[in-house]
Amino acid sequence: MSKFGNSIFGNKAPGVAGGTQNSSAQEATAQGGSVGKSDAQWREELTPEEYHVLRQAGTERPYTGEYWDTHTEGVYQCRACGAELFTSNEKFDSHCGWPSFWAPLADGTVRYIHDRTLGMERIEVRCATCDSHLGHVFEGEGYGTPTDQRYCINSVSLRLVARDAAQDNEANDGEQN
Ligand SMILES: [Zn+2]
Repeated sequence: MSKFGNSIFGNKAPGVAGGTQNSSAQEATAQGGSVGKSDAQWREELTPEEYHVLRQAGTERPYTGEYWDTHTEGVYQCRACGAELFTSNEKFDSHCGWPSFWAPLADGTVRYIHDRTLGMERIEVRCATCDSHLGHVFEGEGYGTPTDQRYCINSVSLRLVARDAAQDNEANDGEQN
């Protein structure tokens, strides 16, 4: 059905023929700042839709994503790098067709970029760890949330780790300093 890729943006894909098997050697250097993966690596690891949104700042169609109407408790990670970005505590029903949060999990988990495409002044939201596109943040819309902000995030940019599953992982290291 969906044909992302060459047709929409007329990518001049400069012959980056992926598919070789020696791309994992450099991933170990990911630490702190940027993940520093090449475009070819991202293209290989992500599905075409994930790649289009996360790495080309695309937008999924409203009401089609996995999480726009999800109320499961848990943590939303970056689909590209696994960094924890949002939690269900700040998710609210905006009825806009995309998962909406009134704040990120913590300061510094996301970064902001002025986006003037499509003739609009918008603030793009990206993952601070791997610089992948997540969505946009809007302010002053009157949703009645504590911040009056709406982080309008693509489902395909996120991966929900339900609280039950997270507890299994962290059951034993809660008391460490
Ligand atoms: Zn990320």
